[in-house]
Amino acid sequence: MSDMNRPIVAVVGRPNVGKSTIFNKFAGRRISIVEDTPGVTRDRIFTEVEWLNKYFTLIDTGGIEPKSDDIIVSQMRNQAMLAMDMAHVILMVVDGKQGITAADREIAETLRRTNKPVILVVNKIDSMSQYDNVYDFYELGLGEPFAISGANSMGLGDLLDEIVANFPEGLNTEIDEDTIKVAITGKPNAGKSSILNNILGEDRVIVSPIAGTTRDAVDTYFEKNGQNYLLIDTAGLRRKSKVYESVEKYSVIRAMSAVDRADVVLIVIDAQEGVTEQDTKVAGIAHDEGKACIFVINKWDLIEKDNKTVKKYTDEIRTKFPFMAYAPILFVSALTNKRMNKILETVDFVASEHAKRISTSALNEVIGEAVMLNQPPSDKGRRLKIYYGAQTDVKPPKITLFINDKELTHFSYQRYLENRIRENFGFEGTSIRFEYRQKK
Ligand code: GDP
Ligand code: GDP
Repeated sequence: MSDMNRPIVAVVGRPNVGKSTIFNKFAGRRISIVEDTPGVTRDRIFTEVEWLNKYFTLIDTGGIEPKSDDIIVSQMRNQAMLAMDMAHVILMVVDGKQGITAADREIAETLRRTNKPVILVVNKIDSMSQYDNVYDFYELGLGEPFAISGANSMGLGDLLDEIVANFPEGLNTEIDEDTIKVAITGKPNAGKSSILNNILGEDRVIVSPIAGTTRDAVDTYFEKNGQNYLLIDTAGLRRKSKVYESVEKYSVIRAMSAVDRADVVLIVIDAQEGVTEQDTKVAGIAHDEGKACIFVINKWDLIEKDNKTVKKYTDEIRTKFPFMAYAPILFVSALTNKRMNKILETVDFVASEHAKRISTSALNEVIGEAVMLNQPPSDKGRRLKIYYGAQTDVKPPKITLFINDKELTHFSYQRYLENRIRENFGFEGTSIRFEYRQKK
């Protein structure tokens, strides 16, 4: 069992060179996650990639900035700096059809200053006849260009070989299903480090702030009652490097990287301050990515309480995170130790709910009953028919419903079904995804 960090591979390059095309190919499925909840729609910029049994995290730095053609050069320099800071291997993507541009030179110049491996990827080489263009790119001074066609999936296997061959020693490329990975997020001073230290207490087995890395998320591996945990701490949000000190956005990006690697996300909120914008962002991301979530209201000792205080706070959380009614709320004090033992208990619980599988027969019994009590919607005389359902994925649970016509589905009916499913099977702490398949 290793407590080392996953390799991180960052993709940089100008807009429209094909970064997100490559990202999506590597991720193996389309991963733009579009939720029904307004305000939480976004493109994913992190994904876990597997190649020949090795796992790594891929970041599309292009997704960090809104896409535009007149993107300012300084933004791209920021992307490159971020990649140099966070990644172990950097892919610089250029457009083989268009040739070298001034912005390419700019990025290349920045990247030449890193001692991390940089792979120069010449994309859009869709046929052999275009191969001559590739040689021009030697001029960027980043070594041998790697020709691919992201759109046609040509050269991607070789590129993955090359990426994996460039991983530095000592990183963890293995998947570890038995460890519950927990990200502790929250704004600076909310009490993340205090919670981490409190959880670890004397049970701390191995603490591993990886020396010499500039990554801010620090991994701590420990074991308690026979269960392995990996705590991914984002407390280091404060120790930002000079380059983007002022850019609040980047602290959210760091939190995102921690969330991406986690099974369970603790959203730590300072009870005195209440919910901040960063909390809303990070929670939205955790929800989008289908992580199990727990709200931890810390510094409860500082709050003057009466018999309505818990309800008042609960109402605030439920109002500010309407799409996350499934997430438990804990009121704790890392200082006085109040209810701190609930944290790991709840982590264990939501982690098992997140990974839970329910049988097709039990699910269909509940769906059948739900349909009997409350008829599915109809439109112009045609009624939605649900033939049957099956749980088709875990982490988060996904329910696939086989139906007569997708046009007849309705969000409010899906919510009704979700409520019935939760009443019967729980799934506490996790979102449930729905998918429809039409059967004629
Ligand atoms: P990004 O802005 O760098 O993320 O670029 P995108 O992945 O959005 O791609 C920009 C455009 O280039 C899109 O229209 C893609 O379809 C196109 N594209 C991406 N890869 C290739 C390729 O290998 N060949 C060709 N001909 N077009 C590509
Ligand atoms: P981080 O930046 O989120 O890691 O926050 P820290 O763990 O460093 O805590 C910030 C400050 O809040 C420190 O001075 C802690 O002693 C204090 N603190 C943390 N948890 C509690 C708590 O439950 N009650 C009180 N009163 N103070 C706390």
